[in-house]
Amino acid sequence: MADRRDREGIIVRDVTMTYERRGIATTAVDACDLVVPKGSWASLLGPSGCGKSTLLKILADIVRPTSGTATMDELTPAEARAARIFALVSQQSVMLPWRRLAENVELGLEVAGVPKRERRARAREAIELVGLSGFEKAYPHELSGGMRQRGAIARALTLRPRFLLMDEPFGALDELTRERLNFELIHILEETGATLLLVTHSVTEAVILSDTVAVMSPRPGRIVHVASLPFGHRRTPELRDDPGFVAAERDLRHALGSGTAPAPVAPARALLAG
Ligand code: ADP
Repeated sequence: MADRRDREGIIVRDVTMTYERRGIATTAVDACDLVVPKGSWASLLGPSGCGKSTLLKILADIVRPTSGTATMDELTPAEARAARIFALVSQQSVMLPWRRLAENVELGLEVAGVPKRERRARAREAIELVGLSGFEKAYPHELSGGMRQRGAIARALTLRPRFLLMDEPFGALDELTRERLNFELIHILEETGATLLLVTHSVTEAVILSDTVAVMSPRPGRIVHVASLPFGHRRTPELRDDPGFVAAERDLRHALGSGTAPAPVAPARALLAG
């Protein structure tokens, strides 16, 4: 039994990805190992271009690694896709402008050939879970950016995925909306029990949303630091004031190599960044 549990969740073993384009080879990810136990939440944190999206795309069966293996509940990415055990949400998750919210949310089920009546019921359930009840008939242009992104999450949830793969899902949103959606996502994860792998370059977002944060180096991306966060799953916005939360953010900034500025410089940098 213990054996089986060890093989569940997300397991990435010695994955290297070298892209070839017009004779030029770019190694995006180099010998990465990552384990995300079933039901837990993990983030890939790192600077732009370090291969975070590539790792997610390997799991989502969008690209094949040059070497190494990746599995979800013991299935290869291709098998996992066929079995529909994961859903991918990205910053670019688009809503079709001519379809109402509910019709957009049903899209994944439509592609999967799920009958109309069940599509309706599952879309309604997902829309309620992301807090968009009452907006079913709205067109995308009538919704805010945050509401559209919640719609994209609802569409992913209709598939009842065991694994949520999220690539900067809130990257295009203002900071307040982003933090609110971070905590809404926690509620959704608690309700569904899904395993999360989130790609982000926000330290705060990674700490809010993770049990484990894997920090990647600049290209070629390697996992250079893994932090285990002890906050459990019942997280509320007050968590940000917890000394443990602040310390975790500081440690991750150091691991990223951006927290090493001398003390007098740090506040000015923080102000500029804000
Ligand atoms: P991140 O998500 O961390 O910003 P990516 O995984 O998108 O990083 O990209 C990592 C590196 O691989 C970058 O240098 C990028 O230019 C390169 N890359 C990504 N996709 C391709 C591709 N399809 N062809 C060639 N190079 C690519």
